[in-house]
Amino acid sequence: MGRFDLNSYMLKRDLCPICTKNPVAVNYIREGITHYRNSCAGCIRSGRKNKPEAPAWVKSGYKKKDRCELCNFKFKLASQSNVFYVDGNLKNNNWINYKTVCLNCQQELYKSKVAWKPAPIVPDF
Ligand SMILES: [Zn+2]
Ligand SMILES: [Zn+2]
Repeated sequence: MGRFDLNSYMLKRDLCPICTKNPVAVNYIREGITHYRNSCAGCIRSGRKNKPEAPAWVKSGYKKKDRCELCNFKFKLASQSNVFYVDGNLKNNNWINYKTVCLNCQQELYKSKVAWKPAPIVPDF
């Protein structure tokens, strides 16, 4: 990424409604007027259409722990962990019903007899 004046660059554009992170992409410039696309270059490239609705555990404000709550493995990447519903009821969005679990422990959970169910995964959260 070049070090251009990001602030003034961003101010001229609407934010991409899909990722809400990047400014919308330029479509074309005609007679000095810039026409924009409906979403940013990244979302266009990856074919993202709509922002997926955040699952209930995300909406509840719960944040994944930085360690596995079963084996204490410290995550380096958010993708190394998932949230599990301890009682297996995906509608019980009480924080005490959530556990952050590493990928290893997940495999053991799937094989075990516990009721725990994985929460819906959202890569952006
Ligand atoms: Zn976008
Ligand atoms: Zn673990």
